[in-house]
Amino acid sequence: MNPRWNGQFSRFDLVACSEAKSGAAHRSIVRVRDIEIGGCDFVVIAGPCAVESEDQLLRTAEAVAKAGAHLLRGGAYKPRSSPYSFQGLGVDGLKILGKARQQTGLAIVTEVMSEQDVGVIAEYADIMQVGTRSMQNYALLEALGRCGRPVLLKRGMTATLEELLCSAQILATAGNHEIILCERGIRTFETATRNTLDIAAVPVLKTVSHLPVIVDPSHAAGVRSLVPILARAAAVVGADGLLVEVHPNPDTALSDGEQSLTFREFREMMEDIDPYLALRQEGRQLRPRLVASGGTD
Ligand code: PEP
Ligand code: MN
Repeated sequence: MNPRWNGQFSRFDLVACSEAKSGAAHRSIVRVRDIEIGGCDFVVIAGPCAVESEDQLLRTAEAVAKAGAHLLRGGAYKPRSSPYSFQGLGVDGLKILGKARQQTGLAIVTEVMSEQDVGVIAEYADIMQVGTRSMQNYALLEALGRCGRPVLLKRGMTATLEELLCSAQILATAGNHEIILCERGIRTFETATRNTLDIAAVPVLKTVSHLPVIVDPSHAAGVRSLVPILARAAAVVGADGLLVEVHPNPDTALSDGEQSLTFREFREMMEDIDPYLALRQEGRQLRPRLVASGGTD
């Protein structure tokens, strides 16, 4: 137990956990249509890394909906490390997402990279995703504070949990309290996986803050064979859901094909995770206790 937890995080008054006198900690629930993120359900957000074509997205939307996904993901604006990589379809991609929403009824999660795009993306998105490379883009966070849509805030790949909560606090201070935190793996000395999934981040964040926490096993693993087992781990430690990449033909994907599940693999993952959801209830109760700064237990 880190006795500094309390001192470390409690200054984030808008996002820090405040234990009511009854001992029951208040938890935030982000509601999107009839879906509650941070409530009792384990919410699965699935879809391709990037929107590549109408056919690719609509087929994926139908497949993931049928397998039990609650929301559809897909990037129209892609932050790519290389300027030579596919950068996304932009507004055309948003229109395809809009069509998928109409046809399947799935709510849409898509990434916003620049404060200039917040308005147009908010017209199509039910949840605005802030990617790992943008977690500390303060102009973007300020603009998202006023966007009227929930924000899925991904942890910066070299950010501490304190820095992640700092960014969440900026969103809240700017007026947006509908925040979902996402652990997507961090950069460490380990190279066997694309990133190192910091699984402890889930119980820590759920102890020190009242915000929902989901896990992205795809960007953590970097390879599809590891995704289902990391998804199990996320469920068992009490995460509120998953963000998973799925593609009709991962070998031809324009981004993140190696870590994208096929439709069949996604269906199997959804079936595989079921027994772990019972353990999830226990995981949610086994929260480490907050201790006062300088405490000894
Ligand atoms: C993504 O979700 O496709 C993405 C780019 O994720 P991250 O920002 O975590 O790398
Ligand atoms: Mn991706």
